[in-house]
Amino acid sequence: MLYYQPEIELSSRRIVGLEALIRWAHPERGLIPPMDFIPLAEESGLILLIGDWGLAEARKHIQTWCLEDPRHSSLRVGANLSARQFSREGLADHVKALLLQFGISSGQLGLEMTESSLIPNLRIALDVLGSLRRLGVSLLLDDFGTGYSSLNHLHSFPFDVSKIYRSFVDRMTTGDQPLQIVRTIIELARVLGLDVVAEGLETGEQYRLLRQLGCRFGQGYLFARPMSVEVVTQLLRIPGRVLPDPEPSEMVLS
Ligand code: C2E
Ligand code: MG
Ligand code: MG
Repeated sequence: MLYYQPEIELSSRRIVGLEALIRWAHPERGLIPPMDFIPLAEESGLILLIGDWGLAEARKHIQTWCLEDPRHSSLRVGANLSARQFSREGLADHVKALLLQFGISSGQLGLEMTESSLIPNLRIALDVLGSLRRLGVSLLLDDFGTGYSSLNHLHSFPFDVSKIYRSFVDRMTTGDQPLQIVRTIIELARVLGLDVVAEGLETGEQYRLLRQLGCRFGQGYLFARPMSVEVVTQLLRIPGRVLPDPEPSEMVLS
């Protein structure tokens, strides 16, 4: 099943997007996290079927939310893709058909991938990314700061958003150097014209610092954990989709 975690605009605490995160609801073992089965699915090739299922499922949820409130059409719902899904012919055609068939605008869909998932087949990946970009789908560079972080690739890949890997966010309050690394990542994204989402935002202090550093968006347990479609549907009903201030006394406006 797909769980969803809200992405927040840090200045307004408004939910601007949702990341779809897959779980395997096992009859005996309960909810199995993606890291326990996605690598195997990637190895066996099953990831292609799982990926198609995930996109179709997200599409269904997008439709449900928009039917409930047409203003939810401004939400961007991000799906994670892994390496094998990129080396596949026709990914962009598949996404295009999905959008057309169900009347979803391309701005409502985001695709998240890590840089390392693009490396094994760089030429095809660049073609596929270009086609997806021309469709108007948002492309999010996941776990930025891990993998190669090659400036050359960053420059040539048509990303819209970079997501700061959560271990950088986790360490940013532990010392000056980790903080400067996050500052540099945000600055680099700005130079490249990318929006920035900080992943794994867990504390009020991280929230305050990220805002001071000019990071616009974030997601993390501080605001909301990944949740079932029923629970996230309830959450989207909050007026203006604005979440409560998690740490009102700690707030310093930047
Ligand atoms: P990701 O795309 O980087 O997703 C973010 C992960 O960070 C999620 O783990 C999320 O639950 C977790 N997270 C969010 N906020 C916090 C926080 O404040 N603290 C901590 N400690 N963790 C936080 P999850 O759901 O276990 O997913 C792990 C990875 O599995 C994802 O990393 C993504 O790479 C992959 N994945 C998830 N769903 C799919 C899918 O449908 N297809 C593919 N190919 N990969 C998927
Ligand atoms: Mg992701
Ligand atoms: Mg990530």
